[in-house]
Amino acid sequence: MDIKRVVIVGGGTAGWLAANHLGKAMLARSDVSVTLIESSDVPPIGVGEGTVPDIRHTLSSFGISESEFIRECDATFKQSIKFVNWMDKHVHGDGNFFHHLFDVPHSAEAKVLTKRWLDNHSSDKHYGDYLSPQHQICELGLAPKDITTPQYQADLAYAYHLNAGKFAQLLAKNATQKFAVEHIDANVTEVNCNNDGMITSLKTDKFGQLQFDFYIDCSGFNSLLIDKTLNVPFKSVSDTLLVDKALVVQVPTEPDDEIPPYTIATAHQAGWIWDIALSSRRGVGFVYSSKHMSDEDAVTKFDKYLGNKKNEVEYRQIPMKVGYREKFWHKNCVALGLAQGFLEPLEATSILLTDFCAKFLTQRFPTNVSQMEYLEQRFNQSMQYAWERVVDFIKLHYCISDRTDSAFWKENRENKSIPISLNKRLKLWEDFIPVKDDFFSQFEVFFLENFLFVLYGMNYKTATEEKCTMSDAEIKTHFDRRESYDKYLRNKLPKHRELIDKIKKYGLQTI
Ligand SMILES: Cc1cc2nc3c(=O)[nH]c(=O)nc-3n(C[C@H](O)[C@H](O)[C@H](O)COP(=O)(O)OP(=O)(O)OC[C@H]3O[C@@H](n4cnc5c(N)ncnc54)[C@H](O)[C@@H]3O)c2cc1C
Repeated sequence: MDIKRVVIVGGGTAGWLAANHLGKAMLARSDVSVTLIESSDVPPIGVGEGTVPDIRHTLSSFGISESEFIRECDATFKQSIKFVNWMDKHVHGDGNFFHHLFDVPHSAEAKVLTKRWLDNHSSDKHYGDYLSPQHQICELGLAPKDITTPQYQADLAYAYHLNAGKFAQLLAKNATQKFAVEHIDANVTEVNCNNDGMITSLKTDKFGQLQFDFYIDCSGFNSLLIDKTLNVPFKSVSDTLLVDKALVVQVPTEPDDEIPPYTIATAHQAGWIWDIALSSRRGVGFVYSSKHMSDEDAVTKFDKYLGNKKNEVEYRQIPMKVGYREKFWHKNCVALGLAQGFLEPLEATSILLTDFCAKFLTQRFPTNVSQMEYLEQRFNQSMQYAWERVVDFIKLHYCISDRTDSAFWKENRENKSIPISLNKRLKLWEDFIPVKDDFFSQFEVFFLENFLFVLYGMNYKTATEEKCTMSDAEIKTHFDRRESYDKYLRNKLPKHRELIDKIKKYGLQTI
């Protein structure tokens, strides 16, 4: 049987990202229709404001103008995640920090510089600052480009902070207008299957029974198809990633408030706080482990963080079920977004994984039911690998911290809570500086440079016996060049707020 009618259930970020990817790809197959059903009775989750640099490529491939995106989604530039107090305050001082930067040196250069930094500078200079000019640019509150830089291009790599609700609306407009995706507002009340367990139709409150050939579950934590209908089991990773609740607020800002060009992630006794500045407000979230902190304590600590802003905001509590489905593709159904799973938002991995999976699905989308068995296997194997690697990367931030001030931090360092795959790599990196070859697959999601910034941002001890392959003279030349490049960037790049205001007024160059 040919696959001609594809439906996406859910119109949050995941649903509309999938709609754009699939809708665009199916323009080449005029016999295939893509429909998205969402219920205005069930609002999207409305959080998820941090992204990673790949999103630029995705938006550009959808034909969305960067200026339009920045205007419509209150978006700002994100060049890093600044991790504050992730190390022991008594050793490294209150307010200790490191940046996980997006701008990365060449991997061969990174190895040499890391060796030098370990030998000579680990106690007097931030690793990020040693490796990349972006550390200083972030600390100065500068943008990664200026108004003359063409859209989606940059002097320094960046992603965005965005308003999740407005982002879904922009993606919806794009998918329906450019890629002929049909949009239905209805509540799916029943899902019907045949004897083989294949989904055959959806019953809706407004349009009765609707039949499709292929079903994409983007119904968020509801997981209407993959869980409630097909009963695909959920694999919890709560023994590894301990936080399971979030308090979320939106903090009003003044039109001339500075906008930090990075996410701030401040650790506390039982989790961390994200602080994301958009052009119109801040999105702030207090993430914690309910086993290690009561809801009352979380509110008190969050109040303290918000200071006098606490009187201007409304708290929303979001429980987080941490883990993912044992299968993401089952029969004629694929789950994406929160329906697929969720890991705490420390490295903004949810939109990233959704985008990654939607692209992967689109590249090998079945034309016929007979292809589904091998495509299903391939998809599940690759995506499971990706999820496992993301778990490893998030856990890394907790298990190499030297904080011991609470049961939460101590438990995070216990061997039994650390995945074997991560433990093996950490063991290797006790003796050797990480290199590109330690990362085998394109499904790693996070690569060498991401690990380097976190490992050495947190003073990971690598007692390497390797020799530095650059002479002192070569190192001097490197840093002389760096100094002039740093100066050039500082002179060229505007303040972040100034650039956002200009883009809203004049727009970026489109070529
Ligand atoms: C606390 C927190 C912080 C986060 N921070 C980040 C971050 O910084 N970066 C990041 O990448 N991600 C983050 N995420 C994840 C991010 O929110 C999600 O990846 C993103 O919003 C996608 O959600 P979704 O589309 O899967 O689900 P939702 O937004 O919940 O959308 C579900 C959709 O399904 C529809 N639906 C449900 N049931 C039915 C039904 N019966 N009939 C019809 N339609 C139905 C709803 O109408 C809705 O349109 C965060 C998540 C949480 C919980």
